[in-house]
Amino acid sequence: MEKQVYEFKIDPEFRDLIPPLSEDEYSMLEDSIVRDGCDTPLTVWDGIIVDGHNRYEICQQHDIPFAYEERSFSDRDAAMFWMLEHQLARRNLQTYQRAEIILKYAPILRKSAAKRQATSTGGTDPQLRPNLAEAGSKPETRDQLAKMAGISHGTMDKVKQLDAKADEETKKKLRAGEVSIHRAYTDLVNREHDGETRVCESCHEEKPYSEFAFPSNCSQPRSVCKDCEAKAKHPVNDTDAAETRPVPHDTGIQVKNGKTAHVALGLPDDPAMFGQVVDLLKHAQNAYLAAFEATLAQYRPSMISEEHSDLIRELIDYVADTTEELLDKHLNNKNTH
Ligand SMILES: [Zn+2]
Repeated sequence: MEKQVYEFKIDPEFRDLIPPLSEDEYSMLEDSIVRDGCDTPLTVWDGIIVDGHNRYEICQQHDIPFAYEERSFSDRDAAMFWMLEHQLARRNLQTYQRAEIILKYAPILRKSAAKRQATSTGGTDPQLRPNLAEAGSKPETRDQLAKMAGISHGTMDKVKQLDAKADEETKKKLRAGEVSIHRAYTDLVNREHDGETRVCESCHEEKPYSEFAFPSNCSQPRSVCKDCEAKAKHPVNDTDAAETRPVPHDTGIQVKNGKTAHVALGLPDDPAMFGQVVDLLKHAQNAYLAAFEATLAQYRPSMISEEHSDLIRELIDYVADTTEELLDKHLNNKNTH
């Protein structure tokens, strides 16, 4: 296709679905296009840009010719589904970025899900993957979206809070993967209550707000401080705790899932081995989730009560908090050696 400075329409609703590039990213893209020209064709539907909004803007501004591909969609919804799929398929997206994309599309997907149900046959585009089509047609759109982004419910809720309240600097770090969602969320909540204190119901000491765990689905922190919580769950004194807690690399981890993972062997101290560490963590995560699901199957209707469910939630939070603590401890050890 001949490269030219084509004129296309920009649809504001489509344009606003694209996560904005940071200033750095934009100027890097601009520099490369000005230097080498525009190599990646834009994607256009019926004269409207569906992919390449930034490239279009840069090419127009500097009068740089570009190529484009024409795609056809049955309607606006189908075009937006394609855009969503296209964006989630981009490589190197951080969890927060995936969640941000999903957040932007959620209202549109919900709206079109309602429309699809009303028309029953709908105008499904053959390019849609079945799971995407499902995401638009089931009532649990929220669950489906979280699943598509590979993000848990709880994390999605935290992202919503961060999206609404965090400052731009924090969001930049989240997008770059420089800070975890859990950490940024905890910081946000603690900052909101900076200077406040609470009295622990167990030890009756007045402590800063940050000394109380804050479950994500709850607008109030726990009534018992973290220290007392830890003591209640691990009724051993602190010096014993380190010795009695089973340490993964002493015992090795056995995981089903087709493979057995042995941490006991120890990995060579080499940056390239980090992929193995990630694999091992994923196995551990799968094993935990499988065990959790199997256990939930035993949580039968006659046992189910709000109190029992709260207890389960506490156990889940305990896992999250403890793993975070283990990580911090490990990182601190590394710094002092
Ligand atoms: Zn206490």
